[in-house]
Formats: sequence, structure tokens, C-alpha cells
Amino acid sequence: MKLALQSIEDLIHIIIGEDVIPLTKILHAKDNISEFKLAEMLNVTVNQIRNMLYRLYEQNLVVYIRKKDKKKGWYIYYWSLNQRGIENTILKTKLKQLEDLKIRISREQESQFYVCPNGCMRFPIETAMEYEFRCQECGSLMKDLDNKKTIDNIKNMITTLETEIEIIRNPPVKVKIKKEKVSKVKIKKQKVSKVKIKKSIKNVLKEKPKKEIKKVSKVKKKKI
Ligand SMILES: [Zn+2]
Repeated sequence: MKLALQSIEDLIHIIIGEDVIPLTKILHAKDNISEFKLAEMLNVTVNQIRNMLYRLYEQNLVVYIRKKDKKKGWYIYYWSLNQRGIENTILKTKLKQLEDLKIRISREQESQFYVCPNGCMRFPIETAMEYEFRCQECGSLMKDLDNKKTIDNIKNMITTLETEIEIIRNPPVKVKIKKEKVSKVKIKKQKVSKVKIKKSIKNVLKEKPKKEIKKVSKVKKKKI
């Protein structure tokens, strides 16, 4: 499965840098482009392109093949995105985010928090007690904080991440019917969020058993 450009861009943005995004877009559209052609397309020097490509290569996000130029006698490198490497890195990043969120939510659920009414700082109760419930910035008396909203937000983030991780681990493209349905949804609602599209992918997945049942009944008819 070719990964969605947006999720690749999100990853590159976090671990490599924004300057590599235009290069990523080009490589997402086409495989095996020489560094000379890339430099030309992006209107930068070959050295600049090489710098970007090496940064991507270090993180296992691109691959190359090299061919000898018969006239000039040197090797030319042709670059492509490393789909598998990107997928693994996205998965690793998301698993780490999930782990962090789970630690955070248990901290939120286990502790009572105090906050400065002026918004300077927030402490768990133990620390707030040490400071006699005074804000260390402005000296105001700190109030106890209802962190239900924070907990709900983290819960939602965890659910989204778990869905995304599940989709990476079990990409829903093996049966043709799924692909068609997903693209229809995309055309109808172009501005729908990624989460909604993923939900629709999940719904399509849920429909799989129905198809199998139909097949079984056809076989039975033939026998009769
Ligand atoms: Zn304060």
C-alpha cells in the first residue's frame, strides 16, 4: 500500500525538517528520480539535494539505485521513498506517542492538581502543599483543578492513535471492493478529517463477513 502523503509529511516534519517537504512531495509522486533532476525540479543545487537525501537516508526513509553513465563514466543515483522504512518509522513514532499518553493519563487520573488563577503554573497536590498552595510566580492562592477535560482529551488522542496504529498494522486494501468504497467516500467528502475517513475504512472492513456469506450461499445454489 502506498502511504498517504499527509502522514509521510507529518513524519518528515517531525524527524527531518520542513525544508525536506517539497522533495518528499516529488518522491511520493514518482520513483527513481536522479539527484540532478531533483535539483532541477526544486531549483536548488545538487549539493543541497544531496544534503536532504542523506538526512532522509540516515533515517531509512529513502532508497536509491545507481547506474553508470556510459558517456561520463560516473554513477548516477536514482532516489525513491522507502515505503517500508517510512511505515516502520511512523509505527514506531506512534507507539512511542501512545506510550507517553498512557503515562500521562495515569498521572492525571491518579493525582489531584492545583492551578494558579492567573495561569502561571500547575502542580500536583504534593508539590502544591510544599509551596503552601501559593503560586511561585505571582504569589496567588492556587485552586484545585478539575482535570476531567484534560483526561477526556487524552482519552480521545489515545483512541485516535490506536486506530491509526491498527490501520498501519493491518492495511485495508487487499480486497478491491474496499478500495472503491473508500475512494467514493473521499470524493463525496473531500474536507472530511482523516479520522472520519479511517472510520469509513473500518466500516468497510466490518462489511467483509457479509460478502463471504453471499459467496457461501451461491455455492449452495449451484449444488442444488
Ligand atoms: Zn501565578
